[in-house]
Amino acid sequence: MTQLPKRKLSRRFIAGASCPECKNIDTTYIDPRQETEFRVCIRCGFEEPREPVVDAKPLRFQ
Ligand SMILES: [Zn+2]
Repeated sequence: MTQLPKRKLSRRFIAGASCPECKNIDTTYIDPRQETEFRVCIRCGFEEPREPVVDAKPLRFQ
């Protein structure tokens, strides 16, 4: 048995998001590259760096 690394290219599509280029909806996905996430459109090849989303608020209780 060969163990393949679990590195599936899971594309996180943005539901309901429209591409600013081709205006298609649900064609853009998030492509994590290094420290910046890119919003990539599969239709027209549009790419745009995405600001890191600060979802989790850091808890800094002292
Ligand atoms: Zn597009």
